[in-house]
Amino acid sequence: MIETQMLSDTETTPMLTPSEVIEHVFCPRFTWFMNVQKISQHEDSRYKVLKGREVHARRETENKAYLRRKIGVAAKELSVYLASPSLRMRGVVDEVLTLSDSTMAPLDYKYTEHQGTAFKTHRIQVLMYAMLVRESYDAAVTRGYVAYIRGSHQVVEVPLSQGAEAEVLGIVDDIFEIIGTGRLPKRTAHTVRCRDCCYGNICV
Ligand code: SF4
Repeated sequence: MIETQMLSDTETTPMLTPSEVIEHVFCPRFTWFMNVQKISQHEDSRYKVLKGREVHARRETENKAYLRRKIGVAAKELSVYLASPSLRMRGVVDEVLTLSDSTMAPLDYKYTEHQGTAFKTHRIQVLMYAMLVRESYDAAVTRGYVAYIRGSHQVVEVPLSQGAEAEVLGIVDDIFEIIGTGRLPKRTAHTVRCRDCCYGNICV
């Protein structure tokens, strides 16, 4: 797992990264261990290997024409840093796309096999990027994309609905509430996630 740390672009406005948010989605206690107890995760070798493959596969995929055909890309920017004090989010988007319908959308690469729909963690991450793109570019943003680049390449569309935005903002609120109060959140309901957890020995 990646070591995360809440950083700020200004000295007064903390902003969450997608990594921090998706770790909270995986298990809310990650937020508590990292940001209340200040116990970092160790970045294990399996994660480093996976990340290296992701970067390599992404570079090979970036210029594939299938993207332009499939989702109508008119222009794109690569590796764009975006931050919003009002949304309390920041992050580096793999690609910011301008689409043929004049809307904009983020695209995020995942070195994972496609399994029908976007994983919840990936969906939340690309929704955060979509909200950041909309605010930063003052553009219409109705969706984001996750490109699964392991095995057969698949691009999954993630709609940016009012409900989806409320879900993301609710997670951000929950994280700041835990950090602000020190409240110990419930354990994840998915006990299978505890098997390889780096906090397993101290999580009671
Ligand atoms: S051991 Fe389970 S409940 Fe505790 S932090 Fe890890 S995943 Fe969450």
